[in-house]
Amino acid sequence: MSESPRPYRGRFAPSPTGPLHFGSLVAAVGSYLDARAHGGAWLVRMEDVDTPRNVPGAADDILATLEAYGFAWDGPVLWQSSRFAAYAEALARLVDAGLAYGCACSRKEIADSAVRPAIDGGLAYPGTCRNGVPPGRSARAWRLRVDDAELAFADRIQGRIVQHLESDVGDFVLRRADGLFAYQLAVTVDDAFQGITDVVRGADLLASTPRQIALQRALGYPALRYAHLPVAANAAGEKLSKQTLAPALSRAAPGPTLVAALRFLAQPVPAGLERAPLAEIWAWARAHWQLSAIPRQPAIPLATLP
Ligand code: GLU
Repeated sequence: MSESPRPYRGRFAPSPTGPLHFGSLVAAVGSYLDARAHGGAWLVRMEDVDTPRNVPGAADDILATLEAYGFAWDGPVLWQSSRFAAYAEALARLVDAGLAYGCACSRKEIADSAVRPAIDGGLAYPGTCRNGVPPGRSARAWRLRVDDAELAFADRIQGRIVQHLESDVGDFVLRRADGLFAYQLAVTVDDAFQGITDVVRGADLLASTPRQIALQRALGYPALRYAHLPVAANAAGEKLSKQTLAPALSRAAPGPTLVAALRFLAQPVPAGLERAPLAEIWAWARAHWQLSAIPRQPAIPLATLP
C-alpha cells in the first residue's frame, strides 16, 4: 500500500539579525507562492536561536514588513528561542544512540590540526574526539558523527546535489561551546515539529542541506523536498546580506519591489504590473507561479536584470 503524500507545508524562516532586504524578500516570495500554488500552508518561523546575533527590534520589523508586502501566514509565528527544550531532547536522543558525541577541541586546535577545507568555507573537523575526549579535557561542544557515503538529493531547481559529509564537512556541531544550539539542529528539529514538507529558500543554504538530511535520518524524521532559489548578488558578485550592507526594504511602496522580486525569479510578469494594487499583483503571481521558470543558478547579479 502506498502512503498518501503529506499535505504541502512550506515556511519562511528569517533570522532577526536586521531588517528584510531584497534577497530575503525573494526567499519569502518563492516559498509563499510555491506553497499557495500547491494549495498548501505557509508558516513563518523566527530563527532567533543564535541569540548574540539577534538585533533588538529586528523580529518585529521583519513581521511588519511581511505584512506591509501583503504576506499572510498560517498559524502563530514559531520562535526558536522558545524551543531550547526540544533541541536538548533531540541532542540527548542522538547522544544516547551513539550518533553524537562531546568534543573538547578549541577553534585553534582544529585550525592547527585540520587538513581539509570544508565545503562552506570553514574547516572539516578531523574527528579528533570521535572516540572520546582526551584525558583531562571535557566536552565543550557536541557533534554529529557522519560517514563518507554519498549523500544525494534532487533539488527542484538546482538539480542533483551530492556531498560526502565526512570529507566535505566532517562531524559537525549540534551544540556550540557557548551552549547555544546550532542552526543545523534547530532548523531540522523545527521543520519536523511544524510538519514542513517543502523547503524553498536561497541557494546560499544549498551546502547545508545534506547536513540537515543526515540529521533527519538520524532522528527518524520524514524526508523533505527542496527548492533552492538563486540568491541576489551585488555588482561585486557578493550575496545581498546585512554584511554586504543590502538596503532595508521600504514599506512605503511595496508593489514595485514585489514585482522586481517576481522578475528576479523569472516569472513572466506583464508590463505595468508594478503599478497595480498589491492585491492584484499577488493574484497575478499566485495564478501564474512557475517554479520551472526559475534559472538553475546559485546566484544572479542584480545589475544584470532587465
Ligand atoms: N534563518 C536562515 C537565514 O535567515 C534560513 C533558514 C532556512 O531557511 O532554512 O538564513
